[in-house]
Amino acid sequence: MDFRFSDRSMVLQQSLEDFFRAEVLPRNREWHAHVAKDGNAPAFLETLKAEARRRGLWNLGLPDLAADQPGTRLTNLEFAPLAAIMGRLPWAPIVFNCNAPNVPNMEILQKFGSVEQKRQWLAPLLDGRIWTAFGMTEPDVASSDARNIRTRIRKDGGDYVIDGRKWFISGAAHPGCKMVLVVGVTDPDGSSAAKHSIVIVPIGTPGLEIVRALPIFGRGEELGAPVELVLRNVRVPQSNRLGEEGAGFAMGQARLGVARIHHCMRSLGSCDVLIQLMRERSASRRAFGRPIGDFANVQDAIALSRIEVEQAKLLVYKTAWLLDEGGPEAARREISMIKVAVARTYSAIADRAVQIFGAMGVSDDTPASAAYTAARTMRIYDGPDEVHLRTLFRLEPHEVVGESAHYLLGERGL
Ligand SMILES: Cc1cc2nc3c(=O)[nH]c(=O)nc-3n(C[C@H](O)[C@H](O)[C@H](O)COP(=O)(O)OP(=O)(O)OC[C@H]3O[C@@H](n4cnc5c(N)ncnc54)[C@H](O)[C@@H]3O)c2cc1C
Repeated sequence: MDFRFSDRSMVLQQSLEDFFRAEVLPRNREWHAHVAKDGNAPAFLETLKAEARRRGLWNLGLPDLAADQPGTRLTNLEFAPLAAIMGRLPWAPIVFNCNAPNVPNMEILQKFGSVEQKRQWLAPLLDGRIWTAFGMTEPDVASSDARNIRTRIRKDGGDYVIDGRKWFISGAAHPGCKMVLVVGVTDPDGSSAAKHSIVIVPIGTPGLEIVRALPIFGRGEELGAPVELVLRNVRVPQSNRLGEEGAGFAMGQARLGVARIHHCMRSLGSCDVLIQLMRERSASRRAFGRPIGDFANVQDAIALSRIEVEQAKLLVYKTAWLLDEGGPEAARREISMIKVAVARTYSAIADRAVQIFGAMGVSDDTPASAAYTAARTMRIYDGPDEVHLRTLFRLEPHEVVGESAHYLLGERGL
């Protein structure tokens, strides 16, 4: 294992850090006030995006860009620390065109899209001109098992006709969203891993309707918050199918590996902020005649948080390195590990931050309450914790014949 960051990653980390501190962070209040009032992004976002691009801080999380596509082509390990810097604010990744769900959608279009699909959808995504969504989860089936997905995609002449209901689809209601990658069944008689396909459904196609927004723990104001969608007799040309027919399940899986690294690092960046705020609050807030930072519970909370973030970051770096070196199969175990470990770390640290801020911690005056709910949802999406734990249990070696007996000192075996 070699986790040293390359020179170009170090240079970009410094450049991103400078830009974030000088241009992005000072606009945080203005961002939130505008989004709460108007439900869309403030005009300064486009100015920041243009400046980020001018400074070479654009499309940083896409290792497989072609020579004529804009971006840095950093490896996953090179990008990981940059994602942590962006993760300090929930909206900062948009400035650098590194936000979900657009980046995983760019990945999947890059890997499986036709020349025409790349021209129509990937090129404007890479330019940060449009949003997209990924529509897999359905209210009527347990969607943590993607093979359960039921939305029907039927052939009709040269078209597909789609019927189904999706929910928790992030980004579909964003004002800039232009299409949804819809997962559905093209071959009901196929094997469970070969019956699904992915079809591009442009926003505005007759029969595609956004039914309602789904606020997360009562939070509905963020751009790209998830929605419920209905597809009734939605007709698109067969050329809108992404990749091979029946390959939907495999493509959906491929979309998630790199995205998990990004998401984990952004969450750990948010943890860095919470630790910083807890530390400052512990010095300024006084109770029972002393700063609350004099109490052992507060000191322990901050110190434990730092240990946990450091552990989690190292595990993510290892995962990124494995992914770079050997592809998704080489990193399979670690990709599941980081999903569980980071969600738990994030939950624990957000919980401590809420407690240390007292009543202020449950209000929206600090980022702690938003982090608390974001961390809680992280234990569900991208595969609930339990699914990853089951994978990890299965990957644990358990058939080293005879060896275990040497560890046992009594008469009984295992
Ligand atoms: C904020 C947010 C954003 C989202 N964005 C998107 C999006 O953009 N696009 C999209 O398609 N989906 C999205 N989702 C949906 C998300 O991917 C699903 O919620 C997730 O896959 C789980 O599916 P489910 O809700 O149907 O849970 P279910 O499959 O019903 O599972 C419920 C519970 O059952 C248990 N369980 C399930 N399987 C196992 C197992 N193998 N072993 C043990 N226990 C198990 C777990 O406790 C699990 O939490 C989002 C969800 C949230 C919360």
